Amino acid sequence: MDHIDAVRTPASWVVVGLDNGGTCNNATVLDATGQFLVDRLVENPSRVQDGPESAVEALAEAFTGILTLTSTPSSLVRAVGLDTPGPASADGVISSKGSTNFSQVSWHGFDIRGALEARIGLPVVYNNDANAAALYAHHRHFGADAAHRSSVAAIVGTGLGGGVVEWGKVVSGAAGMAGELGHVQIPLQDVLEQGQPIPVCNCGFEGDVESIASLTGITKNLLPYWLSRYPDHPLAAEPIGKAAKMLRGYGEKDDPLALAVFGQQAKAIGKLFTIAANFTDPSAYFLGGGVVEAAPHFRQWFLNTVREHTKLRREQQAAATFALVPDLDMAGARGAAVAALETVPPQ
Ligand SMILES: [Zn+2]
Repeated sequence: MDHIDAVRTPASWVVVGLDNGGTCNNATVLDATGQFLVDRLVENPSRVQDGPESAVEALAEAFTGILTLTSTPSSLVRAVGLDTPGPASADGVISSKGSTNFSQVSWHGFDIRGALEARIGLPVVYNNDANAAALYAHHRHFGADAAHRSSVAAIVGTGLGGGVVEWGKVVSGAAGMAGELGHVQIPLQDVLEQGQPIPVCNCGFEGDVESIASLTGITKNLLPYWLSRYPDHPLAAEPIGKAAKMLRGYGEKDDPLALAVFGQQAKAIGKLFTIAANFTDPSAYFLGGGVVEAAPHFRQWFLNTVREHTKLRREQQAAATFALVPDLDMAGARGAAVAALETVPPQ
C-alpha cells in the first residue's frame, strides 16, 4: 500500500450520520479527519408513522439533503451511520414485537439498515439511538484518546437509554441488547422512602433504573407517591402526565417535592454507576437527557447527587470523571457518523 494514500485530509472523503426519530430525521457529515461539517440541527420529517417504505425514502432524502447543504459530492461518501430508537438487533432489524416508534405491523422485524443500504447503495452501519449518543459523548470527551478509554452513559428521557463504550467501541452484545442500562435492577434501600411502593417498569421488572430515572417512572411511580405526601402541591391539580412534564421547572426553583423526585432519580443513577464501576470500571460516567437542558445550578446539583451516590474505590475516584453528554439533540446523528467513520478502512 502506498503510505501517502492512507493520509486522511478534510477533502479526501466523508461519512454521513442519520438519526431517525419519531417525528424527524437529523443529519450530519463527518470528514475523514473527524471534523463535523454541520454545527446545527438539520432535520426533515421522518414519516415513520407512514410505514417502512416512506420512512426509508425520508432517510434517503435526509442523506441527499445534507450532501447538498454541505456541497459534498456523493462520490466522496464512504459509509453512512444510522441510528433509530430501539429495540432492534445489533444490525438494525426492528424488534419482532415492534416498539413505541415502530408500532405498525409492517415494521415488526423490518431490516431498516439493510433497506437503507439497498436504497442508497452505500454501506450503512447501525446503532440504537442511546448507543449512538453514548459513542458521541465518548469521542467528544476523550478526543484522540477515545480508542484507549471506556465509558458508560445514562440518558434520561421518556425511558432511560444508555450505552457502554469499551476502548472507543460500543459494546452491542450477542443480540444487540448490551447497554440496556434502564433495565438493570438496582438495590432500592437508600433510594425509596419507608412505605413507598416498589416502582414497576414497562418492561415488567420491579425496581430497575428506568422505573425511577425516566419520565415514565416519574409519571407512573414517583410523582403519584410524592403527591400523596404533598397533597396541597399545585401539581396535584394537574393531570399526572402534564404534572410530570412540569416537574423540572419546579426543580429549578428548588421546590421540595420536585427535589425529592429528582433526588431519587439521581440516587438510582448513582446505584447504576456503582454497578458499572464493578463491572467495566469505566474512565467516564456520562449523564444526558432533559436534565442537561435544565438551569445550570439544577443540572449541577443533579450531577453532584449522582456522583455522591456512586460508590467508587479510591483508585477509581482518581481515574474516573463525571460529565454531561454535550450537544444532546445532535448526539445521535454525530454518534452514528463516528461509528461509520470507524468502519472505513485506510484508503
Ligand atoms: Zn425495565
